[in-house]
Amino acid sequence: MTTTVAIVGRPNVGKSTLFNRLSRSRNSIVDDTPGVTRDCHYASVQWGGMPLVIIDTGGFDDADSEKLLHLVKEQVLRVIEEVDCVIFLMDGREGLLPGDEEIAKILRRLGKQVYAVVNKIDGPEQEPRIHEFYRLGVTRVYPISAAHGYGLRALMDDMISDQPEEGPTEPGHDEQIRVAVVGRPNAGKSSLINRILGFDRLLVSELPGTTRDAIDILFHWEGKNYLVIDTAGIKRKSRVKEKIEKFSMIKALKSLDRCHVAVVLLDGETGVLEQDARICGYALERGRGIVLAVNKWDLIKEDAEGTRALYRSMDRQLRFVSFAPSITLSALTGERVKNLFKKIDMVYYQFRTKVGTADLNRAMEEMTRKRPPPRTGQTRLKFFYATQTGIGPPTFVVFVNRPEMVHFSYERFMINQIRERFALNHTPIKLIFRKRRNT
Ligand code: GDP
Ligand code: GDP
Repeated sequence: MTTTVAIVGRPNVGKSTLFNRLSRSRNSIVDDTPGVTRDCHYASVQWGGMPLVIIDTGGFDDADSEKLLHLVKEQVLRVIEEVDCVIFLMDGREGLLPGDEEIAKILRRLGKQVYAVVNKIDGPEQEPRIHEFYRLGVTRVYPISAAHGYGLRALMDDMISDQPEEGPTEPGHDEQIRVAVVGRPNAGKSSLINRILGFDRLLVSELPGTTRDAIDILFHWEGKNYLVIDTAGIKRKSRVKEKIEKFSMIKALKSLDRCHVAVVLLDGETGVLEQDARICGYALERGRGIVLAVNKWDLIKEDAEGTRALYRSMDRQLRFVSFAPSITLSALTGERVKNLFKKIDMVYYQFRTKVGTADLNRAMEEMTRKRPPPRTGQTRLKFFYATQTGIGPPTFVVFVNRPEMVHFSYERFMINQIRERFALNHTPIKLIFRKRRNT
């Protein structure tokens, strides 16, 4: 499971500096998500092999003013409520200020796991500055320098070992197809889930989700078991207008962690927006199967120009998930909603495919014949052997003499060949290149 971490603190304590340092890894996606909170930045990173989502809350500005409590912006609070833990950042140069104490009070009330962190400790000689921060009544204060990286390892390692024992990152091996319905606000997620729940041939039962307020909906249809992860408390919400709370990137991310297949619901009326592409990016990064479902088809199907524009926007913005099948449907009328499950099944099937080693290596041989691997100077890239090491998504390890010589374009060529050859055109695929000596 991904651990979610919010960075909070007064202005200028170094939140963005810390955020940038933690997110400056090759795998990170830095993300401004307008509309969720004013300027919450999300970055999805790895620390010691652990997937983390770091959120810079933008913060409690005017922390020492009286208005703090409402200024604190329900939105920041809402983010904090959803995360697993909080980095409470303070400024070692300024010392402990009343604003910090105010924030500490709020955090205590929320009952979250909080790490009290004092920034701008640029070296061990400055560590004595952290003593006064123990007045907050915390058991440990971490000195760090966000600018230079000092102390960061101690903090992050502690944070990771404090997280509950990791469950299986891969969804379970039971034959239950886990589906997450994700998408922008108003794409029609609630409508779709309610529509699915309305099918008479379904047996529906509610399971308490693993997170506080997610509800998993289990049902059986055409001989298969599905578990739909209801991200936003969709069913309960339909009566009220908790519209603001609706879209929660954190919940979407957590549901993506637990699913086999993500149904990314697009709003046919508005077309594809940047946020849709981000959601797809997260799903891809987590190696999930994806079905692109264009909703509200009832509104646009008669409009030839509109549908052309829609397909153009999909081609343009979602090309990086071109393996994902798409379907047009209407949650409102129910049109093609059942067909959605056919797509889900197909993606799931490919997602769990295991390719035999002999077949795989024959395919490798053909590929390298078709397109000889590149050479630099005297060395030619050599492929020795390949094997599938995992499913969900299919993951292949390829042993080569010089992994660094495998260029992106060659990797893409291989992926396409594998897709074609083994009918894996609708699932993400991972290729890992490992070094082996010439023998
Ligand atoms: P934010 O408002 O909390 O996001 O704070 P910023 O990240 O913008 O940092 C505020 C100021 O503190 C900037 O001028 C940073 O260069 C400085 N700063 C941040 N981290 C450190 C640090 O570790 N050491 C020192 N000396 N300065 C820092
Ligand atoms: P959510 O925010 O993604 O859960 O979206 P909702 O399910 O609340 O839907 C947002 C709005 O779109 C509501 O007014 C729905 O009635 C409307 N809507 C959802 N699906 C469709 C559809 O297929 N066709 C049309 N015309 N409207 C839809």
